[in-house]
Amino acid sequence: MISALLVMVGIALLLGAVLGYSAIKFKIEGNPLVEKIDAVLPQTQCGQCGYPGCLPYAEAIAKGEADINLCPPGGEEGIHKLAELLGVDFKPFGEGKGPRAKAVAFIDENTCIGCTLCLQACPVDAIVGAAKQMHTIIASECTGCELCLAPCPVDCISMQTLPENISNWKWQYPVFPIKAIK
Ligand code: SF4
Ligand code: SF4
Repeated sequence: MISALLVMVGIALLLGAVLGYSAIKFKIEGNPLVEKIDAVLPQTQCGQCGYPGCLPYAEAIAKGEADINLCPPGGEEGIHKLAELLGVDFKPFGEGKGPRAKAVAFIDENTCIGCTLCLQACPVDAIVGAAKQMHTIIASECTGCELCLAPCPVDCISMQTLPENISNWKWQYPVFPIKAIK
């Protein structure tokens, strides 16, 4: 009995050692450039850049497959930061491709049928609700990506533009022309 236990402990230790060694030996190093680019992106996962989230867009930029001016939620500030990071020139948004007015989604709770389709579509979990129950938006979590609008079968979700005020107003980036200073 004791010998069988010792054999099992031995096998477990050996397997643990093999797994530990494999984890170190075969560790897949992330691409540091992709991580830096992704850190600049706003993490709204909204897909407005044409990619299924911020990380795939960061990977495409790092591979040179995508331009740095495709992310409306990041605004010109995001493009400037990417340009500085990659050592390339600033590139303005294409015609009609720039940031939209800040807005959040709003659900008409009297019309909502509780189908949960919007909840499933929201990439940042800004919607709360349950099947056959009223759903509502956590405005402070909503990025205004509009991904919940199309799935709603009763069209009870609308976008409400946020008035600019002291809490969401900020300086235009860059505050001073960096090139001029250098
Ligand atoms: S609630 Fe709608 S608009 Fe707001 S983040 Fe979620 S999917 Fe986007
Ligand atoms: S998709 Fe529309 S109807 Fe369905 S839960 Fe969301 S708001 Fe309600």
